[in-house]
Amino acid sequence: MLWRSRRVSRRAVAVLSALAFVGVGGSGPGYAPAAEPAPARPPDRCADESADAADAARGRIGRDVHDTRHYTTAERAAIERRTDRILARKNAAAGSQGDVQATEIRRIPVYFHVIRSKSGKGGVSNKRIDRQIKVLNRTYAGRESDAAANTSFRFDLKDRTRYRNTRWFNGNRSLKMRRITRQGGRRALNIWTLNLDVLGIATFPWQQADRPKLDGIRVHFRSVPGGSLTHYNRGKTATHESGHWLGLWHTFQGGCAAPGDHVGDTPAEATPSQGCPEGKDTCGSSGKDPIHNYMDYSYDTCYNQFTSGQNSRMNNMWAAYRA
Ligand SMILES: [Zn+2]
Repeated sequence: MLWRSRRVSRRAVAVLSALAFVGVGGSGPGYAPAAEPAPARPPDRCADESADAADAARGRIGRDVHDTRHYTTAERAAIERRTDRILARKNAAAGSQGDVQATEIRRIPVYFHVIRSKSGKGGVSNKRIDRQIKVLNRTYAGRESDAAANTSFRFDLKDRTRYRNTRWFNGNRSLKMRRITRQGGRRALNIWTLNLDVLGIATFPWQQADRPKLDGIRVHFRSVPGGSLTHYNRGKTATHESGHWLGLWHTFQGGCAAPGDHVGDTPAEATPSQGCPEGKDTCGSSGKDPIHNYMDYSYDTCYNQFTSGQNSRMNNMWAAYRA
């Protein structure tokens, strides 16, 4: 579902990784930053679920496969039509009309799974898990910028589980791993921390019904707050990936052409942002690029907002697929 990747640049530069999965970061008891230097190059923000195909086929997620999975314009249009139909049916049944209003707070139960190698690499402490949950709540509450929307979503940690499996830790057997470990129903957010080639990977809400045991987000263990991944260790990868899990596209989805990310108040942008390029403006009249939006690919320190339009979309997606 998402890649927060910087595909273009990475591929162009060859050094950057490609896309799709998100970050890298993490920590935990026994974690030794000195022994685990951060990758020399910036990680891809996220990966696409299509990586699972490669995962299944060769047992390993690779940089050359990931996020190549683009939803085509036709596929995205079909998703929008399907969502509209579901909402219309639900609203009719409920006797209401129009979009589901984003007025209520929706509390999402979170199941946090720490996947470590057999030697213990990849540990994430309880304290850092708690900090990650706080970051989710702070970012979804719009507390990082006056321009940020206070969204309807809050996150409650329900359970923490820990596994030692080197294959799982290295991103292999992801389908089996998720089927075995996932907890909760369709409204539950499962977060798995492990060692990825990208920062993170997410599933979309419209996939949930067909693949309920795979639903959730995977984030690099070094991307959690206090992790060792420079520029990506403030826990915002989980914010980004959960944005996909709630139905958001990247802000650069579709480039400058409408309908872009299907959100009216996020200016179109032609390319993913890297770092924090103030003033970046790739689509002329639509306004400056939304480099501070959690659904771009900027540094964690550059991120500070979702928009009200994104909040509405997340609420509609929730009503359609998770309510
Ligand atoms: Zn993404």
